[in-house]
Amino acid sequence: MKPTYQQPTERGYYGQFGGAFIPEMLYPNVEELRQQYLSIMAEPEFQQEYQQLLRDYVGRPTPLFEAKRLSAKYNTRIYLKREDLCHTGAHKVNNTVGQILLAKRLGKTRIIAETGAGQHGVATATVCALMGMECIVYMGEIDMERQKPNVYRMRLLGAEVRAAMSGSRTLKDATNEAIRDWISNPVDTHYIIGSVVGPHPYPDLVARLQAVISEEMRKQLLEKTGSELPNYVVACVGGGSNAAGAFYHFLEEPSVQLVAVEAAGHGVHSGHSAATSVLGTPGVIHGSRTLLMQDEDGQITEPYSISAGLDYPGIGPLHAFLADSKRARFISIEDEQALKAVAECSRLEGIIPALETAHALAALDQLGAGPDDVVVINLSGRGDKDLETYIKYADAIM
Ligand SMILES: *Cc1c(COP(=O)(O)O)cnc(C)c1O
Repeated sequence: MKPTYQQPTERGYYGQFGGAFIPEMLYPNVEELRQQYLSIMAEPEFQQEYQQLLRDYVGRPTPLFEAKRLSAKYNTRIYLKREDLCHTGAHKVNNTVGQILLAKRLGKTRIIAETGAGQHGVATATVCALMGMECIVYMGEIDMERQKPNVYRMRLLGAEVRAAMSGSRTLKDATNEAIRDWISNPVDTHYIIGSVVGPHPYPDLVARLQAVISEEMRKQLLEKTGSELPNYVVACVGGGSNAAGAFYHFLEEPSVQLVAVEAAGHGVHSGHSAATSVLGTPGVIHGSRTLLMQDEDGQITEPYSISAGLDYPGIGPLHAFLADSKRARFISIEDEQALKAVAECSRLEGIIPALETAHALAALDQLGAGPDDVVVINLSGRGDKDLETYIKYADAIM
């Protein structure tokens, strides 16, 4: 089969990126998933249950909102895809709802996940409560300290949060613990990965589960603008799942400019950033070959961003391919620009965006969109979770 942007090769390659680089002991788990995910997702009963939960539980379709005051300011036609209105406040639940249905059909009774900022952990704990499944979330001890409300949310939802105490006690270490758990519990456990990262088939699986975002966009654009195709689709990229979902049904439409926005932190070359498409080189991280920030010895460089959801040292293999092939344009946005965009969107549209999302909004300055162009920005999440940061920087942004 010829690979496309929407469909990696059978072994999970998008160009030179992707694949499954995993310890031998993990092979049976990943192989079981690889052999079954497409056929299970194609089952009418799966689709029916997934669509019903997206509608009645997640709250889909999310609105496509014409942002008139932002449009006036940037002299173009801006639409916001309101993923911030999803249950739990962001797009992440689209994926966890789908994966828990998949896990059920694989006969699994126990769910594990890793989380950095806690958002994916909460989205996982949420669907485990919904389905009555045991849920264990691994989280770095430092992250648990930094993200206390999310730890308590997960506990309230009935999940067990296990602290990863090794290494830097952050996301990377939580991932290692989750993998160790999966190796020890291959039969009854499914590992829910939260972005388009990890060994094949995860990047493709998560992209397909988030693709509902662009599926809805096409219908909504047709209704509102008379064409299914916008001129630009803009989304922020941490691992790349909300961007993959927003781009998916436009990937094979060359007239649509895809714009991926990364976090430049204090500046791309400041030594404190997460701009992987600029600073990254090919290597293996979390089981796939992709672009990652690493030193000459292949040691992963600690990423930095004001936004916990973008502070990841790699990007998913689809995005590495989109960058390499120039199908998508990559822009990096510094902390300060993102904070300004938070205030701007709040004041002009009455919508307080998440810090991650604010990076996508801040790219409006650089798009070069004209008055007749249609720009869709994927509003990946709501700002409530970032209020503490907004208070801390209040003098700068208000
Ligand atoms: C987690 C998160 C992101 C980053 O993750 P992706 O996989 O790149 O989408 C972006 N926005 C919000 C609101 C998030 O919670």
